[in-house]
Amino acid sequence: MENEQLSLPNYNIPEDIRDVVAVTTLDRLYNWGRRSSLWPLTFGLACCAIEMIAAQMARYDMARFGMEVMRPSPRQADMILVSGTVTKKMLPAIIRLYNQMPEPKYVVAMGACASGGGPFKEGYNVVAGIDKFLPVDVYIPGCPPTPQALIAGLIKLQEKIDKDSLKKVRWYQKGKEDPNYVPMPILGPDLIDVRRNEEYKQAAAVKEGA
Ligand code: SF4
Repeated sequence: MENEQLSLPNYNIPEDIRDVVAVTTLDRLYNWGRRSSLWPLTFGLACCAIEMIAAQMARYDMARFGMEVMRPSPRQADMILVSGTVTKKMLPAIIRLYNQMPEPKYVVAMGACASGGGPFKEGYNVVAGIDKFLPVDVYIPGCPPTPQALIAGLIKLQEKIDKDSLKKVRWYQKGKEDPNYVPMPILGPDLIDVRRNEEYKQAAAVKEGA
């Protein structure tokens, strides 16, 4: 980041020390560190993943944005790029990976399938969007999105991180339940979201009463 971007506006730093002195906030420094070193989890689900791989190659070169360090372990990653169709069978594995990632962590839904089910939305085996389970930060439209679209989406994520505040980000809220934790769904004949148990019970009671 250039000194002009790091320094807060309205602080008049004398011309002769402008290259060595910056007046900034902790938030700005923190956000700059996070947004400039987003490490994606090495993880692909379907055809969109091919475009994700292409975006990492020399032609598009995501290294320019500090995002080239794809991590094979969720414990070293801070961004999960959901690239492809989310099947009910795969979902528990995705949730497990997400829960194993340290905070701060971000979720990007790449393509129509991850964003809302895509062409397979009505499929008996498909989850109609990863946002039914994970807090998505950025959605990237397309089937598949091009590498350029993926990069544009990731730049949007950087812009979102730029606006974070240490006091408000969800992972530093003391005394509250971990808001990032997503309980593992149960895969039976269908997918059961344990957060909706009450809803299921009420529906079953209505059915029995009918
Ligand atoms: S959005 Fe299109 S390209 Fe991407 S995984 Fe779904 S079907 Fe494949």
